[in-house]
Amino acid sequence: MTALFPRTFELPAAPPPLSATDAAAAIWLAPSTYIRLRRETAGLTHAQVADKLVAGGTALPVEREIARLLVRDLERHGVTARQPSALITLRRIFPLDPDIYWQLVYRQGEPPRLCHTCGCSYFDSCQLGGHDSADLCDLISDTLCSRCATAQAEGAAA
Ligand SMILES: [Zn+2]
Ligand SMILES: [Zn+2]
Repeated sequence: MTALFPRTFELPAAPPPLSATDAAAAIWLAPSTYIRLRRETAGLTHAQVADKLVAGGTALPVEREIARLLVRDLERHGVTARQPSALITLRRIFPLDPDIYWQLVYRQGEPPRLCHTCGCSYFDSCQLGGHDSADLCDLISDTLCSRCATAQAEGAAA
């Protein structure tokens, strides 16, 4: 159960409210795009995710291939995971926020605030100092986080 409800015990303050102009400019990402961004940000290929899903070396090649196709299909436009458990399982392999995923699927209310470059969000921030770092990025707009903003500025300056 701890894997399902960790945030109950570490819930930070509510995210800052949207300003009117931010809300008007907000756009919806496709859930398939969200999954792709989070996987790419983690530096994993479809095959690497699939191997982790089926416990790598012990799985039959056909099982690994089926898993790879499932992972790939989740990133095809219009495809949505059928089971919430799929997102919980994927989150053990690379960082993502299942709530963001389902918000993007059902599109109720305002679009969630998340970085459209790396897919990070309020409860799923970039760790600036590497794995286990407590130094987290901030969302500096509805569609960009501080880490990606810095990377883009450095790219533009180079
Ligand atoms: Zn970002
Ligand atoms: Zn970030």
